[in-house]
Amino acid sequence: MCGIVAYYGPNNAYEYLIKGLRRLEYRGYDSAGIALLNGDLTIYKNQGKVSELEAIAEGNNLEGKRGIGHTRWATHGEPNTVNAHPHQSQSGNIALIHNGIIENYATIKKVLMQRGHEFKSETDTEVLTHLIEEIQVKEQVDLLEAVRLALNEVVGAYAIVILSKNDPNTLIAARKGSPLVVGIGKESGEFYLASDATPIIEYTNQVTYIDDNEIVAIQDGEMSVKTIDNVVKSPFIQELQISIDSIEKGGYDHFMLKEIFEQPKSIYDSMRGRFDAENLTFSMRSLEEYASKIKNLDRIIIIACGTSWHAGLVGEYLIEEFSRIPVEVEYASEFRYRNPIVTEDDLVIAISQSGETADTLAAIEMAKDKGATIYGICNVVGSSIPRTTHAGAYTHAGPEIGVASTKAFTAQVTVLTLLALGIAEIRGKITQDRLRTMFSELNTIPQKVDNLLQSCNEKCKEIAAIYKNASNCLYLGRGYNFPVALEGALKLKEISYIHAEGYPAAEMKHGPIALIDEEMPVIVIATKRNYYEKVLSNIQEVKARKGKIIAIVTEGDEKVAEIADHYIEIPDTEDSLTPILATIPLQLLSYYIAVMRDCNVDQPRNLAKSVTVE
Ligand code: GLU
Repeated sequence: MCGIVAYYGPNNAYEYLIKGLRRLEYRGYDSAGIALLNGDLTIYKNQGKVSELEAIAEGNNLEGKRGIGHTRWATHGEPNTVNAHPHQSQSGNIALIHNGIIENYATIKKVLMQRGHEFKSETDTEVLTHLIEEIQVKEQVDLLEAVRLALNEVVGAYAIVILSKNDPNTLIAARKGSPLVVGIGKESGEFYLASDATPIIEYTNQVTYIDDNEIVAIQDGEMSVKTIDNVVKSPFIQELQISIDSIEKGGYDHFMLKEIFEQPKSIYDSMRGRFDAENLTFSMRSLEEYASKIKNLDRIIIIACGTSWHAGLVGEYLIEEFSRIPVEVEYASEFRYRNPIVTEDDLVIAISQSGETADTLAAIEMAKDKGATIYGICNVVGSSIPRTTHAGAYTHAGPEIGVASTKAFTAQVTVLTLLALGIAEIRGKITQDRLRTMFSELNTIPQKVDNLLQSCNEKCKEIAAIYKNASNCLYLGRGYNFPVALEGALKLKEISYIHAEGYPAAEMKHGPIALIDEEMPVIVIATKRNYYEKVLSNIQEVKARKGKIIAIVTEGDEKVAEIADHYIEIPDTEDSLTPILATIPLQLLSYYIAVMRDCNVDQPRNLAKSVTVE
């Protein structure tokens, strides 16, 4: 995954690099490093967080009007200082940072070693640095051409930025499969590069997103773009829509808590402009454009990973219920490698918060090759998935910085709800009355989430204090709330490192019931509209085995409240909309348990947010 930043301009690079790395730390935090070009190449790098890098760098020479910086999520080689980026070429003249994987690095490394190259690290990245220099010396070409030729030899994914001691007025960057944005600075000849726009927004709102197989060269203060096949491109400059406040903690202890509390707004924003609450009418341009295709669809396939996959499962239930089209939900990582049956009559919905998920991107390409129409649901505007799909809808949840996804999930579910209703309308499977009832209920959801956050926050804290030392936890739900159980368990695992499993409530007796004893908290989503009696029986089964029940119930429920050890009330709503509400207390529970266990909530161990490696 990794985060990369670079600066080229009339000012010192250091401040932008460090601030930028802090903003990108959600992408990886195994090690951090910077290189500054100031006549010589000064490199500081260290295992661990950006703050540790800063401590090492402070007090030293931090001059340099060109600089590159990297925060690493290790793929090749241990997360130690030697493997930290930037990496240098054989002579030490070239420094390079990289996000991605060079798949054929071992072959290239072998050849280079035969030619006398010596490698310091175990990374795939260092090999590329040596290769560029080897080509530059052998072919007697300039740095840009050497990078271009080297990239033609490389298999894999990369976003890279390169500085060379011999070319102090040049900075080269390129991408294939990993993201890269260039900000056009306010001063002449000033450029800010980064993996996403969050480090850049403080300095400029004029950006250009680099496409796959493109190389950016900044030479003597001018930017040019060409492809690795030497075709010149003219960069498309656009204005960033995010604000600096949206990427700060804003008084909260953690980004995750801030993002949980932002949900009334993010859910509202994900619907805004798509339906008119006053007249209860609905319009999604991306659906209207594909109306004839949607009328003739045979099947919908949803592809996603992690939390987005859970949103996809809710999507399956929604679409099948409202529009009566068969839906399959696939892990993108499985789908792309298993030769699935995909036809021109299929619609593939790809869901990804970052819009950069490597497996989802590859699965999209495969489905596209087979003729399917691809619809993207992503949060990060301008990211790779929205630029490769035929149509799509942004979730507009705003930047999500906490590694564990919260507001992106509820926004994805909201967009999927709109999509399910839109498809149902196009296919004539829903009456106008039912549609209006759904919209009028959907319209109340942001306010209900707001009320719920206020009413359940303290209770979640109290329950967290009781169960913070649990070693296992079971989450149960039926129907629409089965994916919510999966998502609740994932959230707990991710940030508190407690082993947790999500199960369809009825499946419990096919295995997990064996785990239940007086030590085992079981979180049951037992809302009133559907399967209520069935879930009640499941709760009794747990109680009979002395398990501890934490129930999520509909406001005013007395039956479950009586038998559960603890209960949290959520507002009543349509069954199909309960996932959005039921998720909220589960997010808070995980959050408080993790905080009470002294876990790093925003940057859980071994994880990174934007999974740009497969
Ligand atoms: N493969 C490189 C490394 O392990 C970059 C990792 C990444 O982008 O996730 O250092």
